[in-house]
Amino acid sequence: MAKRDYYEVLGLQKGAAEDEIKKAYRRLAMKHHPDKNQGDKEAEEKFKEVNEAYEVLSDAKKRGLYDQMGHAGVDPSMGGAGAGGFHGFRQGRGGAADFSDAFGDIFGDIFGGGRGGQRQQQSVRGSDLKYRVDITFEEAYHGTSKNIHFSAYSDCEPCDGSGAKAGSGKTTCNTCHGQGVVRMQQGFFAVQQTCPTCHGAGQMIKDPCTSCQGQGRVHTKRELSVKIPAGIDTGDRVRLAGEGDSGGHSGTSGDLYVEVHVKQNPLFTREGVNLHCEVPISFVTAALGGEIEIPTVDGKVNLKIPEGTQSDKIFRLRGKGFKSLRGSAVGDLLCEVNIETPVNLTDKQKSLLKEFDQLVQEGGQKHSPKSSSWFEGVKKFFSA
Ligand SMILES: [Zn+2]
Ligand SMILES: [Zn+2]
Repeated sequence: MAKRDYYEVLGLQKGAAEDEIKKAYRRLAMKHHPDKNQGDKEAEEKFKEVNEAYEVLSDAKKRGLYDQMGHAGVDPSMGGAGAGGFHGFRQGRGGAADFSDAFGDIFGDIFGGGRGGQRQQQSVRGSDLKYRVDITFEEAYHGTSKNIHFSAYSDCEPCDGSGAKAGSGKTTCNTCHGQGVVRMQQGFFAVQQTCPTCHGAGQMIKDPCTSCQGQGRVHTKRELSVKIPAGIDTGDRVRLAGEGDSGGHSGTSGDLYVEVHVKQNPLFTREGVNLHCEVPISFVTAALGGEIEIPTVDGKVNLKIPEGTQSDKIFRLRGKGFKSLRGSAVGDLLCEVNIETPVNLTDKQKSLLKEFDQLVQEGGQKHSPKSSSWFEGVKKFFSA
């Protein structure tokens, strides 16, 4: 496709004045801007054409070449001085929506503002910090409080976090003239960036505080008492808002996260809010029933074992588990009994057991509910 004359594209005569070119460009670029013509291919092409024309005609050197040699003087594919900036950018960035970023400077005042020179001063937020604290099982059960020692950035006291020596105040940043942003001309584009000198603050410290070298914050050792709620589990975190690093320069502080690690307990295993423990009982107690003493985190309690208790039976003690961190629920303690086989028996014990066994066998299957149903299963399995 043959290229149209750049002056024609902008609706101008050769020899048009600089501000005429700029004016024509703004009018046409706004008309064909992709923000206003979503999905309109023709508008997109026109927009490109207008931009290309402007890039050449707004640059004295390129315009001179163009005036002398026409498109051949500036078209990179024809070996000219190069009008590739726009296309390169377009390809690099993809979708039409990206135009609005690159054109923020030029269009800020046209397309709803907010892009040009109105950027808010960016207040810096300090880092969040993490601290690990180890507590015992009992502390997790009852809740506790721990004193922790750590170092973090705190607001500098002599300058009250401002970074400026007392009474010296601030001056407007020379780089951005208080805007907090700078515009960089990259070929045809004006790209807006956070000011590298003041980091967006728009102001500079005239006379930096000597305690913090103008940072507004200093590294300090801190001590805090952390309340750890009952029911906490390993990996849970307690958040202390604003106790992290100071942001300096009146920025906000980060948060401190205290990550809790609960030591294991030899008797209890935790499953959510419930506790699990294993209790060995003698087979005599299991057979005759009785009362045994079992541990809970709160202390010992008695547990009634009914006559004829089988191994692996679980007894549930309501409300003897952990408190829930969320809501008022309280877990249970699940006691699993393990029937213990007696060992190291004397001859007398052995002979009494043999005698006992004889009597049990004479009594038949009614004494052995588990094995009788088990033998039934075995029989069925082999006859099938
Ligand atoms: Zn600045
Ligand atoms: Zn200071």
